[in-house]
Amino acid sequence: MKHKYAYGLLENAWAFVESAVNYARQDRQEQWKFAVLHLTTALELLLKARLALEDPKQLAARSTPITERQFEQGDFRTVGIEDCIERLARMCRFCLNQRERAVIETLRGLRNRVVHYINPSNSNELKAAVGAGLNLFIEINNAEFRDEEPFGAKTTSQVVVELHKCDDFVKERLASLSNQLRSSPRPRTHHTDECSHCLQDATVIDGDDVRCLFCGHGEAIQEFAEGISVDRSVETCPECGRQSVAKHQWKDCEPTYECFCCGHFRGPELKCCAWNGTALAEIPRLHPVGR
Ligand SMILES: [Zn+2]
Ligand SMILES: [Zn+2]
Repeated sequence: MKHKYAYGLLENAWAFVESAVNYARQDRQEQWKFAVLHLTTALELLLKARLALEDPKQLAARSTPITERQFEQGDFRTVGIEDCIERLARMCRFCLNQRERAVIETLRGLRNRVVHYINPSNSNELKAAVGAGLNLFIEINNAEFRDEEPFGAKTTSQVVVELHKCDDFVKERLASLSNQLRSSPRPRTHHTDECSHCLQDATVIDGDDVRCLFCGHGEAIQEFAEGISVDRSVETCPECGRQSVAKHQWKDCEPTYECFCCGHFRGPELKCCAWNGTALAEIPRLHPVGR
């Protein structure tokens, strides 16, 4: 019962973010302002949901006591966003870093301009702010409400997948994941270079799983190896010990058994090609260590 306010707010936050995503995906100049409006609201509701999780009474603007009845009827003024962030830092050590605060500031500034009919002349500015804001929403949601999927809302990975064509969002998200990507073990071969859900190159090895940090999609290492193996057979890798060696074979040629994680193989070495803009060109079979 205590958390009903938090989850009510969370559900609303998701409704607004889904709407923002819909506007952003249309990528039409006159729609970006709606993406800004709804996204700013979504972020404010998400922060309030986090505060309500700690103590719903903190949602009230002033520290005057509020009755259950007033709460039920929404008969009180809610905390402003600045106070909300400050209370969060005080009560549960939830701190936005400088960059995250700047994202919220920028969005609020843009919102104030668009509601006052000042159309920002530069729609790139709106796109960049929306890209950064959507990424921030997902980061906060994943950190604070990881296991909550609000009723009726899309999952985080569905939302991320829908956004994979929004350049600003992709840029922002990859930038915010870059440290984590650098410090995580990653498959050495190219088999996971394109996540089957979001098409990004952000797969890491996470215990017995491979997981895309960009969209969150993950599966067991063995399952992934089965998927790329010609006859779904999988062996244990003698080098890294994972269930990750898949069989590759072209027609009647001699088969290759290769670990997609560490690159260990027996049989003829597989060749790798990538599109370099004009033609398919051969590339090294393995990514460098610590790419
Ligand atoms: Zn993905
Ligand atoms: Zn291996």
